[in-house]
Amino acid sequence: MPETVDLFVIGGGSGGVRAARIAAGHGAKVALAEEYRYGGTCVIRGCVPKKLLTLASRFADDFARAPGYGWRIDGAHFDWPALRQAKDRELARLEAIYRDGLARAGVRTIDSRAVIEGPGRVRLLATGETVRAAHILVATGGTPYLPPTPGVELGITSNEVFDLPRLPGRMVIEGGGFIAVEFACLLQRLGVEVTIVYRGDLVLRLFDDDLRRHLDAAMRDAGIAIRTGETIAAIERDGAGLRVRTARGESLATDSVMLALGRVPNTRGLGLETVGAELDERGAIRVSADSKTTAEGVWAVGDVTDRIALTPVAIREGHAFADTVFGGRPWTCDHEDVAQAVFATPEIGTVGLTEAQARERFAAIDVYRSRFRPMSNVLAPRIERMLVKLVVDRASDRVLGVHLCGPDAAEMIQLAAIAVKMGATKRQFDQTVAVHPTAAEELVTMREPVEPAEPVGGAATIGG
Ligand code: NDP
Repeated sequence: MPETVDLFVIGGGSGGVRAARIAAGHGAKVALAEEYRYGGTCVIRGCVPKKLLTLASRFADDFARAPGYGWRIDGAHFDWPALRQAKDRELARLEAIYRDGLARAGVRTIDSRAVIEGPGRVRLLATGETVRAAHILVATGGTPYLPPTPGVELGITSNEVFDLPRLPGRMVIEGGGFIAVEFACLLQRLGVEVTIVYRGDLVLRLFDDDLRRHLDAAMRDAGIAIRTGETIAAIERDGAGLRVRTARGESLATDSVMLALGRVPNTRGLGLETVGAELDERGAIRVSADSKTTAEGVWAVGDVTDRIALTPVAIREGHAFADTVFGGRPWTCDHEDVAQAVFATPEIGTVGLTEAQARERFAAIDVYRSRFRPMSNVLAPRIERMLVKLVVDRASDRVLGVHLCGPDAAEMIQLAAIAVKMGATKRQFDQTVAVHPTAAEELVTMREPVEPAEPVGGAATIGG
């Protein structure tokens, strides 16, 4: 007799693990299968190791700043294998916590690839066992997109970059999104000569234009080469290194190529067609607001659904699913005003509407913007400025968007996001007494709206 469970979760990343633990807590009999490592992209080859590398890379700036603040630093040098090993120890610790949490919740964990065999049936490829399940949750995440570029196999992606045996002297990174800018900034500070090749005109296309300009200028100032309006046409071997041919016919010698061109949902070979779960045009599983697929009894959360590909969103979607289906407490994850951080250096924190979005949706808006030198930089040789920007609906005075670029922007935006989510007005920001001296005080001290800047790629929209 095959084992029967209330819930079978495919995928042990953020969304799947949360859903499994909460469902088990509601009394459901739960099994979870993971074919690689517990914790998923975020813990194993995403947010967590990336943040550790980012923190490591910023010591370069601290050392450069230190003499201005009276410190003499001699003989500091970076040891990549030491960082890699420390990072691996931390990931092993976190993975154990994930496994432990599942075990303590009473979830059966299975180290195997699992595929849907038909309605209510999942097959474990490691053992050939079939498990019957009243509900199946697909939480298989995504994987880096690889273009059909000749020589693409010579490149790496964010999957491999964390475990390079040694850091390359030069790296070409293709892409202008989260991963491209984060890795460009951190690798450059760890001593790699970085060139970004990006098809657009300014990195981070979906972000506020002022943030994009500010980060672009800071990255160039830090020594990162950014080639815009350009794509990689081919990657070739060139002696001990590599050569990149661009679509415009240029040739770049490099030691490594990293492709950061977005991620695609992991749906291939999962057996979704056996139950009639539909995919959208990007290959993501189609779901309703409560994460229900088009197949009876089959649910999906996280990156595999391509709603907002962020860990905290996947966690909420998983939690909401478990409370709804097994806890008798229906709720859905709210995808509005989700704050985001880009761990570039300088860092970006953003929530709500960009200036361009606000201009499209509201009759009149006011923009408040401040650029200044944070105190961590005033005695430093390089003048790196911070950007703080508010986008406000003139009619209601509601703060529609907060956009930050500079030290600790990610920490600040978490708190600003509460105010935006609560519908706070500019007046309420102004009524809040500043904390001095901080960079964050600019959020509550800007009084004069500014004229709109020239939007990226178009003429200025004055007024509005
Ligand atoms: P993004 O979607 O952020 O960026 C992809 C980039 O690749 C874009 O600049 C895009 O250009 C470009 N691109 C896409 N297809 C092609 C192509 N065929 N040829 C040339 N360029 C192309 O993806 P990432 O891979 O950087 O990150 C994946 C996701 O992971 C993010 O969207 C985010 O959800 C998540 N993530 C979140 C992080 C965080 O929260 N800090 C950190 C890292 C990842 P264009 O702009 O023109 O579309």
